[in-house]
Amino acid sequence: MFNPLQRVPLLLFFLALSTISAAESDTPISRFQNYLRINTAHPNPNYTSPITYLINFANSIPNLHSKVLHLTPTIPLLLLTWPGTSTPSLPSILFNSHLDSVPAEPEKWTHPPFSAHKTSDGRIFARGAQDDKCIGMQYLEAIKTIQSKDPDFKPLRNVHILYVPEEEVGGFDGMGKFVETKEFKELNVGFVMDEGQASTNDEFRVFYADRTPWHMVIKAVGTPGHGSRLYDNTAMENLMKSIEVITKFRESKFDIVKAGLAANSEVISVNPVFLKAGIPSPTGFVMNMQPSEAEAGFDIRMPPTADPQLMRKIIEEQWAPAWRNMTYEITEKGFLRDNMGCPLMTLTSDSNPWWSVFNEAVTRAGGKLSKPEILASTTDARFMRRLGIPTFGFSPMKNTPILLHDHNEFLKDTVYLEGIKVYESIIKSLSSFEGSYEHRCNAVSQQ
Ligand SMILES: [Zn+2]
Repeated sequence: MFNPLQRVPLLLFFLALSTISAAESDTPISRFQNYLRINTAHPNPNYTSPITYLINFANSIPNLHSKVLHLTPTIPLLLLTWPGTSTPSLPSILFNSHLDSVPAEPEKWTHPPFSAHKTSDGRIFARGAQDDKCIGMQYLEAIKTIQSKDPDFKPLRNVHILYVPEEEVGGFDGMGKFVETKEFKELNVGFVMDEGQASTNDEFRVFYADRTPWHMVIKAVGTPGHGSRLYDNTAMENLMKSIEVITKFRESKFDIVKAGLAANSEVISVNPVFLKAGIPSPTGFVMNMQPSEAEAGFDIRMPPTADPQLMRKIIEEQWAPAWRNMTYEITEKGFLRDNMGCPLMTLTSDSNPWWSVFNEAVTRAGGKLSKPEILASTTDARFMRRLGIPTFGFSPMKNTPILLHDHNEFLKDTVYLEGIKVYESIIKSLSSFEGSYEHRCNAVSQQ
């Protein structure tokens, strides 16, 4: 009979062998795999191990200085700096990535999510492979390569590489806190690159804005009564009328997307997420009684082009009108306007020189950008855009399925290595840019 325990020594032997070979081969791919093997998944992300790992790697790259800051006694953040020659006259550039990841369900993966297993066709499987440990390591690999290929190259601007915690739980205790600190202000950041998403075709995607979530709960009250009676103004009737109006609004936005007039992320989306009504009974609900209260919850996503005042007016007058005995509560999980009152988005035209420099750098590396997009969800980029700092979301992964937060997240070794080349070009160009940029508002058009 097969006894699995007999296999253990053999397994240990192979494990030891693979550990030795990983330690022996110190390549960009093995370094990426080792970074992926550090479990930083919520709800208990380990932040000290990845920071130690990154500092060790940074120490092997000349002129790179590291600093660990604490946002709370238990939440650290790592800042690496490659000093520029024209500092402090020119604002710095900052490359951001987050240390944490969402959890993984190992039983649903073909390879363990923290093994960074590489298949024969080069796919590296790990939680965080796309979101966003790839860019965290690519920034460093790019600086290392620039310095070894071109030892005379010196950046004009300070180049900061930032590793923040808590992005996957909203970023409020991570980047949200950091931008409020004296240390952040002293960095005098003029331009930021943050995470983006994979592209399934031959072009790289770039994001100039995020959508902002609004959590809305509408509540109806009405006269209770016997389940057999027909009468006006019950809570359920009032709620269902609202749901009908909201459904029509949702359809009108979805029609715009279906007609190809706007991308999903460019319109206001509204989706029902819960319904709460009825009087509980031991077997389910009381069936002969019309309840006096009913409520429903909705996930609303607002693009920065939307007018928040207009949206609130629609909600107040049509979705939850007081004359239909309705009340509502909105929790805004972010902001739509920056500190100057401008829509939270970065210009992607030649009037933003950072855009031109970035675009040309990608082209010079042999890449091509697709039409700039609004990200359907949110990232830490919003905290910088709020301060008026131009920020692009970009993760150079093309011809790659979008697997962030999914089972079997992977990144191909060739795609990862090409990304390093793209960052070499980007870091060189952006850090050598001598011009200046003055933040101004982008035009708003309601979708
Ligand atoms: Zn991410």
